[in-house]
Amino acid sequence: MREQIQLLKPKLDQVFTYLHSHPEVSWQETGTTRYLQEFLEGEGFTVSLFDGMTGLSVTLGEGSPVVGLRTDIDALWQEVDGVYQANHSCGHDGHMTMGIGALLLAKERGIPKKGTLKVFFQPAEEKGKGALAVLDQGIIDNMDYLFGVHVRAADELDDGSSAASLRHGAAKMISGTIKGTDAHGARPHQGKNAIEVGASLVSGLQSIHCNPVISHTAKMTMFQAGGDSANIIPGNAKFSLDLRAQENSVMEELYEKVERVIRAVAGQYDVQIDYEVMAEMVAAEVDSDAEELMAQAITKVVGEERMIRTIVTPGGEDFHFYSVHRPSVKSTMLGLGCGLTPGLHHPQMTFNQDALATGVEILTAAIELAFQSRK
Ligand SMILES: [Zn+2]
Ligand SMILES: [Zn+2]
Repeated sequence: MREQIQLLKPKLDQVFTYLHSHPEVSWQETGTTRYLQEFLEGEGFTVSLFDGMTGLSVTLGEGSPVVGLRTDIDALWQEVDGVYQANHSCGHDGHMTMGIGALLLAKERGIPKKGTLKVFFQPAEEKGKGALAVLDQGIIDNMDYLFGVHVRAADELDDGSSAASLRHGAAKMISGTIKGTDAHGARPHQGKNAIEVGASLVSGLQSIHCNPVISHTAKMTMFQAGGDSANIIPGNAKFSLDLRAQENSVMEELYEKVERVIRAVAGQYDVQIDYEVMAEMVAAEVDSDAEELMAQAITKVVGEERMIRTIVTPGGEDFHFYSVHRPSVKSTMLGLGCGLTPGLHHPQMTFNQDALATGVEILTAAIELAFQSRK
């Protein structure tokens, strides 16, 4: 496999160079989609564009088992050298390159011999909504295994090492309003002070406890009330909350307790508190079989001493919506060590491009092992 990948490397370098210099933000990856389509069709693959959105998939073979590989395709909008622009600072350009590499290598090696391989290029990971939209396209249905990949920062994983799973945390962002009653500063008994309500919410959040072994936090991240007049008691306020938990069951418990605090405080002050979840990310549900296959693939390619079983990271990743919404899919995400500095989402983020070939080799080995395990 090593020789085959070395032969593909110049092509992969070309792909990466193009994608890196043509970043597009979430849901606007039209040029990226067109480039991927033209490149893959030029290599003899049949491409299926997603219905009504950016991104695409390639299917090889037919019947069961069905093994999938997902890569994300969007860039971030950020200030780079004083200019706001789209920028591939999360490494999704590298992920796409590995998706293409895995397809080229699969074709060379006649994968799948039996069954179906689906490689798909998902939009809008950074918005946390792309995976949910791809789920609606139906391509995860009947999938047995699903692999993903993300480059990792050097302080988390050495260049040359790889992790068989990434345990991202869950997050919930909540937006709310408090409707109390304005009053004269001299007559507080005639009003319902939204700031006092907010203060009670904060102390209520601080008294929430879940199992301390599994990290979790709930805190207020925005609160606005009152105007220029110091002698008016403000009745209305708006606020935001940010909830984090390393496991989905703990997030469920945490959210329930937060809701209880909100209800209790609203009752205590006799005010109306409305709120909604504005954005959420589920925690990783790593399948142990998929993780084991990935561990074997890593060991095969870079050796046992460079195989890390798992990385726990508080960040979020919408990949995990696939396994949460389709629990029968055995999934895991490869963490690729590639000397990435200074960090993900940093405007000057760079990494060792040669690691992409290693990533292709590991992913293709994992795909091969997945087909073999389902014979
Ligand atoms: Zn990112
Ligand atoms: Zn990313």
